[in-house]
Amino acid sequence: MDKEEQRPQTSPHVLIFPLPAQGHVNSMLKLAELLALAGLKLTFLNSDFVHEQLLRHTDVVSRFVKYAGFEFRTIPDGLPDEHPRAGHGFMEIFETLESITKPIFNEMLVNMKPRVDCLLADGVLGIAVDVAQELGIPIIQFRTISACSTWAYFAVLDMIQAGELPIKGKEDMDRLITSVPGMETFLRCRDLPGFCRVMDSTLQRISEDTRKNFKGHGLLLNTFEDLEGDILSHMRTKSPNIYTVGPLHLHLRTRLCESDQTLFEQSPNSFYKVDRSCLSWLDKQPKGSVLYVSFGSLTVLSSEQVFEFWFGLINSGKRFLWVLRPGIMPEKGDEGNNIPVELIKGTKERGCLVSWAPQEEVLGHGAIGGFLTHSGWNSTLESVVEGVPMICWPYFADQQINSRFVSQVWGLGLDMKDLCDRHIVEKMVNDLMVERRDEFLKSTTKMAKLARECVNVGGSSYCNLDRLVEDIRSMNSSLGDF
Ligand code: UDP
Repeated sequence: MDKEEQRPQTSPHVLIFPLPAQGHVNSMLKLAELLALAGLKLTFLNSDFVHEQLLRHTDVVSRFVKYAGFEFRTIPDGLPDEHPRAGHGFMEIFETLESITKPIFNEMLVNMKPRVDCLLADGVLGIAVDVAQELGIPIIQFRTISACSTWAYFAVLDMIQAGELPIKGKEDMDRLITSVPGMETFLRCRDLPGFCRVMDSTLQRISEDTRKNFKGHGLLLNTFEDLEGDILSHMRTKSPNIYTVGPLHLHLRTRLCESDQTLFEQSPNSFYKVDRSCLSWLDKQPKGSVLYVSFGSLTVLSSEQVFEFWFGLINSGKRFLWVLRPGIMPEKGDEGNNIPVELIKGTKERGCLVSWAPQEEVLGHGAIGGFLTHSGWNSTLESVVEGVPMICWPYFADQQINSRFVSQVWGLGLDMKDLCDRHIVEKMVNDLMVERRDEFLKSTTKMAKLARECVNVGGSSYCNLDRLVEDIRSMNSSLGDF
């Protein structure tokens, strides 16, 4: 039987469109595979740049070829090829998506056969909402960040109205922000993203786009009720139809097992070449002895910051596995050629450096005892699932809020935000891995168990995914047409 004949005859056609960034594409591919397993006809729209990276470094095409009716399409992101697409400069993509990608996307949708019944778009893609409205296509938006960050973004306009934003110059960053329902007692200025510090177009755009998230047919979140139930109940006063289907990577693993399939090497959907050698290095380390260090795909560091982390790690005396991604240090200083001998010696004895790791597998490895992370939402969830305590050093956007919840609300780790000093790094590593280890392990183990339960049959995320599939099926505009 050829692929065309196998196509589910009554499936609606869903177009999935992520923001072209690692964390977004990764979680939306996982969602796509879950929906493909449920038998939906899907088109996954990548930027040309992202698709090229995936073709180069992953098995994404062969993995999806088994799903009848699944197709990849590509579209330009509008940035020149040589653009680094990282750091704060990444935000430039929003301008080119608006000016260049949007009209192409519009035309693509008009001409697409079979016609798109449902657009499942990244919640930061305001262009998708505009085009869906113009063409009358039902849209479900997926915010790939936490519920707590989404809710804080939603409340930005209220914070402005209450005079709490923007944060003015050199004021007390520990000042409490009181106009985000559910966070009145612990959200400080320093827990808000950098763009809240100046009143510019980014602040306005982010809050307006987030408000649009609450206006579609539903809002999809990669989170689970036991983790973010309190905040979700506030969100449901503005958008009753919220589907919490996460943690998506665990959910996918569970459903693949259910359908007797295994996830090959846990498919990291990486834009970089994965170095698996660190797994054999981990095999040789004692249980719970290694701190995993990674700042995700967009963070950039100055050489000064790299050295503060490096000294802190060496001075802590702990073993560490550190991901130093290509491009993480755009302005390499002279120190690059002049690395102090104690750092080289300490790294040889206790460290392993890689340019990109199979992170889900690393976090699930028994040798890992802690995670120094930038608090990207995927990384946070991956750590939660494996019960690994975290030291948070948020870089931008949602990460500042995630790290506050990790430390203050969920008790899953420590928040180092705004500090980058070797003594603090050393102290926090020792607190996490030694002094307060048992305390953190108690809460991380408990939360990991709840995460597993919610994606098992009858769990909240499991039921919500089934409900999502049913709701999408009811959007089929051409039932029986093909
Ligand atoms: N990741 C990986 N290997 C690495 C570093 C990161 O596979 O060496 C993956 C990680 O598992 C996560 C994603 O890259 O799924 C990063 O997403 P996140 O939301 O944490 O951060 P972002 O990169 O968007 O800032």
